[in-house]
Amino acid sequence: MANNDFFAIAIDGPSGAGKSTMAKMLAKDLAITYLDTGAMYRAAAVYATRNNIDVNNSAEVIPLLDSLDIGIDYKDGHQTVSLGSDDVTLTIREPWVSMKASDISKIPEVRTKLVDLQRKIASGKNVVMDGRDIGTCVLPDAQVKIYLTASSDARADRRYKELIEKGDKVTYDEVLADIIRRDNNDMNRAVSPLRQAEDAVLLDTSNLNIAQSVQAIKNIVREKIGLCKIEN
Ligand code: C5P
Repeated sequence: MANNDFFAIAIDGPSGAGKSTMAKMLAKDLAITYLDTGAMYRAAAVYATRNNIDVNNSAEVIPLLDSLDIGIDYKDGHQTVSLGSDDVTLTIREPWVSMKASDISKIPEVRTKLVDLQRKIASGKNVVMDGRDIGTCVLPDAQVKIYLTASSDARADRRYKELIEKGDKVTYDEVLADIIRRDNNDMNRAVSPLRQAEDAVLLDTSNLNIAQSVQAIKNIVREKIGLCKIEN
């Protein structure tokens, strides 16, 4: 295994495919660390915006990176995210942040800084990490790589229900448009575009409910690393 004793599970895919739901479930089942890497790009976008910096303007964003201080902690098993001493766990989930996170993530210097941090968090422990470039770039030696996807309609439907449940005022069409724009942004950027790693297992959850998706993921993990902790 990579790092000799530790294993890593990489889950990549477009937004709304269920990556974080699946990753959290695995982390709990296996009692390992879960790292949601999208949260870091979201925090970077919030930081830039708070500093009146245009996330598309790399000449403005790059100098800001020196003072970008993202903290990842775990409270009652949940990942929290801070900017300096300010807890931004809830702020980074506001709908306006999604597209800005996608935009700022195109800047190579942003990626270098956040990938370093992700690797540091992953080192010396068992992890499940989700994002867009985990299997292709962040953890190329991960023992399990899963590319989780679903049709844009299925993903928009799930994301819409999630946001409405949280009390966000969005329409289905806005959510679908955001998903399509972000897919386009994430798949076509020059650095670390979203794509399936050659050695990743493809799982399309368009026609699977959560229980079925969980079962499919567990089967993949069990087959790859034979973990006895994974129950049926
Ligand atoms: O996963 P989430 O939707 O929270 O990610 C927000 C944005 O951050 C994505 O649309 C993507 O552009 C970017 N991201 C990335 N690489 C990752 C994780 C997220 O570029 N590993």
